Amino acid sequence: MAKVAAYATASAKSPLAASIIERREPGPDDVVLDVLYCGICHSDVHQARDEWGGALFPMVPGHEIVGRVSRVGKNVTEFAPGALGAVGCFVDSCMHCEPCSEHHENFCEKGVAYTYNSTEMDRKTPTFGGYSKQIVVKEHFVLKVPAGLDVSSAAPLLCAGITTYSPLRQWNVKQGDKVAVVGLGGLGHMGVKLAASMGAEVTVLSTSRTKEADARKFGARHFEVTKDPATFKKLRGHYSFILDTVSAPHDYNAYLELLKPYGTMVLVGVPPEPSPVAAFALIGGNRKLAGSNIGGIKETQETLDYCAAHKIAPEVEIIPIQKVNEAYERMIRNDVRYRFVIDMASLS
Ligand code: NAP
Ligand code: ZN
Repeated sequence: MAKVAAYATASAKSPLAASIIERREPGPDDVVLDVLYCGICHSDVHQARDEWGGALFPMVPGHEIVGRVSRVGKNVTEFAPGALGAVGCFVDSCMHCEPCSEHHENFCEKGVAYTYNSTEMDRKTPTFGGYSKQIVVKEHFVLKVPAGLDVSSAAPLLCAGITTYSPLRQWNVKQGDKVAVVGLGGLGHMGVKLAASMGAEVTVLSTSRTKEADARKFGARHFEVTKDPATFKKLRGHYSFILDTVSAPHDYNAYLELLKPYGTMVLVGVPPEPSPVAAFALIGGNRKLAGSNIGGIKETQETLDYCAAHKIAPEVEIIPIQKVNEAYERMIRNDVRYRFVIDMASLS
């Protein structure tokens, strides 16, 4: 066991604070990463504050991790000390069930081992995330950071990137499609950049006008404010695909009405409370409501490679770890442009 500096929270009501955790000695299939950067996802806030229930404390959040390999086990072939490596939302799975063998480790029948607020596959050992100096991960779950990516801004691709790339691919978003992205935060801004790069005509549906200039810079052609009820009248039946990234409760029915017949709205945002959906909102045009959960390792690598090839990078505000509690508060106030990334050199 190695002692590793981290930022942890002891309960849903306490702030994150400096702490020491234990990491296992690397086994033959493991890669040890010295964490360089870790993004802050709104899921970190939901979980650290136990908004989804069942949280495990103490908790070290962080599942958008870019690091430098410091050691590797003897069976590791794809990584060597000195290389860059990245870790996303999970660190292990059974690797044998049907979803695992189809590259959907996120849906492992035995239950995936999430990067934090979870346990290893032994179902006993707690997992701790990327707000720490070092992480030990089985090679299969470590991603390669392509040369074209900037190291300091790449971390959000490991969650915000794959979570928006995956549904755009699943629903085959393409040239000329009218696509709306609801909420311009960490996920939303990646959704806009990715959908625009696939040729879609993108609209951002936002709660205020303040992010309009940024949205257009990211590739949106249109920007509409959802606080104004007239917006919902004007845009009725307009979109073939809506990507909903909103973290707080809102009325799905109003957004479903914006779909064309046979259109699909995909939820990636996970508000803590359920929200009713009226049958009429769906049957009115054979509309579909779906969900999407991050993506498997193969597709996460595809996301990194796609972003390197298309020169797509997250917009980040780099902070020292001592500002993490303030960053959570700012995120809740929609004051994030557009992802906080912790520079782990700030933790000694
Ligand atoms: P974020 O950066 O905080 O962005 C959320 C955005 O939602 C805000 O910027 C805001 O955009 C909009 N919003 C906030 N409150 C709203 C309200 N009451 N009504 C309407 N819009 C509101 O969060 P994030 O990191 O992108 O995460 C978004 C959600 O996705 C979270 O619930 C997170 O847990 C979830 N998530 C899901 C997956 C998955 O696999 N499905 C993966 C990662 C994260 P505007 O200012 O433009 O209105
Ligand atoms: Zn996330």
